[in-house]
Amino acid sequence: MVEDGDIVMFNRQPSLHKMSIMSHRVKIMPYSTFRLNLSVTTPYNADFDGDEMNLHVMQSMETRAEASEIMSVARCVVSPQSNKPVMGIVQDTLLGSRGFTKRDTFLRKDMMMNLVMHLDTFTGKLPVPAILKPEPLWTGKQAQSLILPDFSMARFANGRPDAEERVRGPRRTAAPRAAPPPCRVGHPDDETDELSPGDTRVVIDRGELLCGMLDKKSLGTGAGGVIHTIANEFGPQGVRAFIGAHQRLVNYWILHRSYSIGIGDTIADAKTMDDIVATIDDSKREVKKLVEKAQNNKLECQPGRTILESFENNVNQVLNKARDKAGTSAQKSLKETNNVKNMVTTGSKGSFINISQMIACVGQQNVEGKRIPYGFLNRTLPHFTKDDYGPESRGFVENSYLRGLTPQEFFFHAMGGREGLIDTAVKTAETGYIQRRLVKAMEGVTVKYDGTVRNSQGEVLQFLYGEDGMDAVRLENQKIAHVGMHIDKLRKMFEHKFDDPNYGRVHESPVGQPWMRPGLAEELKRDPLAKEELRQEFEQLLEDRRLLTDPRLGPFAKGKADPPSPVNMNRLLRKAQGLYPVDASNPSDLKPIDIVKKVRSLLDKLVVVKGTDALSVEAQYNATYNFFSLLRSQLASKRVAGRAPRPPRRRHARDTPAAVAPVGACWSNTASRRRPSTGCSARWSRASCSTDASRARWWALWPRSRSASPPRR
Ligand SMILES: [Mg+2]
Repeated sequence: MVEDGDIVMFNRQPSLHKMSIMSHRVKIMPYSTFRLNLSVTTPYNADFDGDEMNLHVMQSMETRAEASEIMSVARCVVSPQSNKPVMGIVQDTLLGSRGFTKRDTFLRKDMMMNLVMHLDTFTGKLPVPAILKPEPLWTGKQAQSLILPDFSMARFANGRPDAEERVRGPRRTAAPRAAPPPCRVGHPDDETDELSPGDTRVVIDRGELLCGMLDKKSLGTGAGGVIHTIANEFGPQGVRAFIGAHQRLVNYWILHRSYSIGIGDTIADAKTMDDIVATIDDSKREVKKLVEKAQNNKLECQPGRTILESFENNVNQVLNKARDKAGTSAQKSLKETNNVKNMVTTGSKGSFINISQMIACVGQQNVEGKRIPYGFLNRTLPHFTKDDYGPESRGFVENSYLRGLTPQEFFFHAMGGREGLIDTAVKTAETGYIQRRLVKAMEGVTVKYDGTVRNSQGEVLQFLYGEDGMDAVRLENQKIAHVGMHIDKLRKMFEHKFDDPNYGRVHESPVGQPWMRPGLAEELKRDPLAKEELRQEFEQLLEDRRLLTDPRLGPFAKGKADPPSPVNMNRLLRKAQGLYPVDASNPSDLKPIDIVKKVRSLLDKLVVVKGTDALSVEAQYNATYNFFSLLRSQLASKRVAGRAPRPPRRRHARDTPAAVAPVGACWSNTASRRRPSTGCSARWSRASCSTDASRARWWALWPRSRSASPPRR
């Protein structure tokens, strides 16, 4: 007899990864179907169109203990496969999240009370409403902040280019076929500032959503998103609680707001429709010209292609361009209130292609990567004359789904669609068999008590798992800042220029803020030993950079280093700054030389491979080099001393210094496998949600904007 709260194992086949079998807690409900949280369907690859799943009830306490401690859903949120979550917010909750956190979403008191009623963590105290008169109104962001645990992050909303990409411009692809334009629905390209008019800059500061809408980029399974950060900072129960609370909150709100899409969402205005028709007519004319050219033997042969291949390639390019152009104009015509566009922007369902196919033009149908082949004698269908190489006879569907397809177009569409079905079936069978052979070959391989990896014969495959002993679940990609940095900037940021008369000021500029206490610079200049140490520190940074980017042996030969590393240093430092209020108005009283010594002793303590023989020393060196480089870069003396401290915050009971884990606490080979967390407590109820000092925090959050920050008092 299974009761509420029992632990069971749940499985959906094919079991392709470890998240295909997870343990759940039972809630007995009427009717004979399994019901499960939407967010857990992603790792199972499950939907509700007739899927079958199996539930196993365990028969011993040991099994139950293992199941709940190793394979529970909460413990499988972050996957070791790619160091990122496999579960996120999906479907209607995701769709609702964006609307809920929009700038113009306000909640009346009755709605607010009903929302907090669903939260376990509600303390009985509502935040001060954002608008007081004529009636109290709360923003969706305020309500969202009620359930956000105490952490900080910043990113762009869905569809925004990453900061990196923005600086370097769009990535160039060498793909022969033109890739569809990236989805920029609702995110104007000219919006490049940190503060975004479209509210696409997401900033969460100490558990408060300051700006930005939460969409797939933040709430999805992406590395460094809300789910990932909460999982790393607050553990399995923290992330479980967040997903649950978020779903209850947003689902209740969207239930009362309602949402639907209809034909009306797929109709563009008259001018756009004219544009689309003109674009497609133009391209058809262009293809006609190409056909004539080919028939008159005037077509140029492309290198490596026959004349027919060159012709087909040209035609493809013209038609693809037409489809993209028509699609873009269709997408641009849609208003902010369009429900399909809203779904695509949020990332919950649909894509740019879907929008353009519904509104503008379905586009070229392909079979085996080519235009529809001649199945009859010299023609595709009896509807066409023989030897017709034009777009229509070879499967170009110029109509949209809204306008409807002609019988010929419908047939071509069915041909192209069928290939997709066959592909799926064949791929499933093939990958399934590959998977089976791989699993068979590696089924006995485990990490043993001493960190070695051995097979069922007891043969050692690796002396240290992954040769660095790191647990992939705990890793996050972290940028080693000085690798790939311009040498001038690197010197500015890291080198102590004792000879500079303005040494000790930001950027060695006479008007720069001093980052050392007065007199310390002079003191340093007179100390040859300290000078030598600091010089060596800088030399080491240069050496790290040289080794990591070595064109032959370096792991980051391309010049950009963001290796998966344990301990999120940025977050840890920011959190520590918040916990130990530093007087922001004064320059740091840290002596650079002390920082160098502390960092060195810290690195000495991180021993992954013990032993003094040559092999052990080399193994230790190899296992730690990336992480040490990261630490040396993050904790470089000039950077640490010059780091802008954040303004002190109101202290909470939870903010005890003891809550800060020592750096390196998550090093998986150390005896205590503690998480890289700064506050491991699973309980993160917020006493209140104030908006005071938000602006000051916003500035303090950004090292990059330090030069633009308001002057220190
Ligand atoms: Mg299904």
